[in-house]
Amino acid sequence: MAAINIAIIGAGMAGLKAAATLHRSGVNITVFEKSRGTGGRLATRRTNVGNFNHGAQYVTALHPDFKAFLQQAENRKAAQNWNPNLHRRESPHLDMPLRSIADGNAAKDIWYQGAPQMNKLITPLLEPFEIRKQHRITRIDTAGPRSFVLHDDMDGEFGPFDGLIVTAPAPQSAELLQPLAPRFDAIADVEMAPCWAVMIAFAKPLPTAFDAMIHPDPAISWAARSGNHHHLIHKPSPDLWVLHASPEWSRDNLEEDKERIASRLLDKLRAASGAKLSDVISIDAHRWRYARTIMPLGKSHLGGMNGRVIAAGDWCLGARVETAWCSGKCAAHALIETLIG
Ligand SMILES: Cc1cc2nc3c(=O)[nH]c(=O)nc-3n(C[C@H](O)[C@H](O)[C@H](O)COP(=O)(O)OP(=O)(O)OC[C@H]3O[C@@H](n4cnc5c(N)ncnc54)[C@H](O)[C@@H]3O)c2cc1C
Repeated sequence: MAAINIAIIGAGMAGLKAAATLHRSGVNITVFEKSRGTGGRLATRRTNVGNFNHGAQYVTALHPDFKAFLQQAENRKAAQNWNPNLHRRESPHLDMPLRSIADGNAAKDIWYQGAPQMNKLITPLLEPFEIRKQHRITRIDTAGPRSFVLHDDMDGEFGPFDGLIVTAPAPQSAELLQPLAPRFDAIADVEMAPCWAVMIAFAKPLPTAFDAMIHPDPAISWAARSGNHHHLIHKPSPDLWVLHASPEWSRDNLEEDKERIASRLLDKLRAASGAKLSDVISIDAHRWRYARTIMPLGKSHLGGMNGRVIAAGDWCLGARVETAWCSGKCAAHALIETLIG
């Protein structure tokens, strides 16, 4: 049998789960990723004060297979249990000090994070296939009915490939796939919302009784101690926090300067904690233009071009890392069915 060459666009959870599944079935895989690193929204920002997990905060599992994946990741020290002292704030009023009412970890399910940082959660999926980082795919051409050629933003041309899986967030997948076949028009119905994330390093630990907070104020719907701290000998570790604004607030302030966003969310944290915050030694904001799925596709993947091109990603089924993993797995099995039978 002639070698089968598959391209996967995106090295997040969905793309890498698809790549690992296909690799094990004996086909040649090339993954194209526009960023410098892998993990996608399982993201970690490395700074000289420590690492911030500024995308997904924690991972939960409903399906036994994904539970097994997390267990495997934990065994390989790529995942760890996260059991923060969580406070869920019901009242939108910011004037009551949370220190007095932190209520422990109210979470009923087990929370995991990547270890030692979030973007490492994908480590068990890294098989010996090629990952071409810093290649943003901008166009897919058909080279006959059974093969595809990819173009990137640096005039690079790759292929031909016998099949493709595209795992970019829905609006970006739609841009790539809609010109290929009307079947992919359904992706335009998927709705994804943005999220402003703010990363703050405080000189000293904050005097809060909680490590994570869910808040009804739309500007600071989530705040949590983040990342692994940078232990410097003879120097105290800074206290790292990540704050997230709600989808609505992020949408309303999407084009705002990141400096202004950072200082507004810091003010909100100050009000919400009711405590005197220590000095800020670094602060930055990151805009996730496509963070969380609001309206999913409603099925695990979408195939077109006689089943040789497949759209996948968290947005097919929901807004969670687990849905990305499930979608990547189903997309890979669908492609194996088409190409190998
Ligand atoms: C702020 C925030 C908080 C979140 N919190 C949680 C949480 O607590 N729990 C949870 O389960 N989930 C959470 N999520 C959602 C979770 O991160 C996602 O569901 C999951 O990581 C999506 O994986 P994916 O592989 O589908 O997509 P992605 O991780 O987005 O991967 C897609 C990849 O494709 C790449 N790409 C895009 N376009 C191109 C192109 N043209 N060419 C090449 N590469 C391209 C991207 O760079 C990216 O690496 C959160 C997300 C955000 C942003």
